[in-house]
Amino acid sequence: MAHQLKLKRIEPVTHDTHLLVFDRPDGFAYSPGQGVELHLLKDGWQDKGRPFTPITLPDEPTLEFIIKSYPDHHGVTEQIAKMKPGDEVRMKGPFGAIADMGPGVFIAGGAGITPMIAILRKRLHDHGTLAQSTLVFANKTEGDIIWREKFEAMKGLKIAFIVGEPGASVPQQRLDREYLRQFVKPDGRFYLCGPPPMMKAVRQALHDLGVDDTRIVEEKF
Ligand SMILES: Cc1cc2nc3c(=O)[nH]c(=O)nc-3n(C[C@H](O)[C@H](O)[C@H](O)COP(=O)(O)OP(=O)(O)OC[C@H]3O[C@@H](n4cnc5c(N)ncnc54)[C@H](O)[C@@H]3O)c2cc1C
Repeated sequence: MAHQLKLKRIEPVTHDTHLLVFDRPDGFAYSPGQGVELHLLKDGWQDKGRPFTPITLPDEPTLEFIIKSYPDHHGVTEQIAKMKPGDEVRMKGPFGAIADMGPGVFIAGGAGITPMIAILRKRLHDHGTLAQSTLVFANKTEGDIIWREKFEAMKGLKIAFIVGEPGASVPQQRLDREYLRQFVKPDGRFYLCGPPPMMKAVRQALHDLGVDDTRIVEEKF
């Protein structure tokens, strides 16, 4: 079923991501972590649907997204960064493989954090603490870290921010096997979301560490 949404508010989150706030349409139900397809209702763009992930809880009055723009693609996300309150989108869905399967290690790269935000927020809301969960959030630079302070304020959540550049206030570190070894516990669950090359490398590292696919919950970005 498709819904039409009107943008209420847009504001920057980092240098290349925006928060977009819409009213949640009546009759739209979804699970945290699921994605939707958004189509801009603007001449020349209506047939170009792209997948994004609501970060709000299903019973909140607004439907919010954090969307990274890629101006060099000259695609939909370049246009999204230019949206103004009152602009409309058509939304299809929800869909998606990633869902809350219990506490675990949440491994995200860049904008792949959005399903993790939805699931962690829901778990915090339902359980009052994230004491059994760890977030491993990899970014190119420190300025790319989405929601840094908000994650740091989440009760009980253990956090490892890592970046690809030297001189940051968080470690320069790759998501390689030796680094990931510390997060592997017997029967521990892993949530994984990020760009395909990162997903492939992390999945292989986890396999090498004895984690089979039944313990990996993933969404490809
Ligand atoms: C299930 C799911 C959920 C997602 N949720 C989110 C989310 O919540 N937030 C978020 O920010 N992202 C999310 N994404 C990623 C998001 O969908 C993409 O970033 C988005 O589709 C990119 O659209 P685009 O039109 O800007 O660029 P694209 O569709 O990638 O590219 C448009 C055109 O640009 C060209 N192009 C492609 N790659 C390059 C390149 N590297 N350099 C130059 N040109 C290029 C191609 O010609 C292409 O046709 C999600 C993805 C999935 C699969």
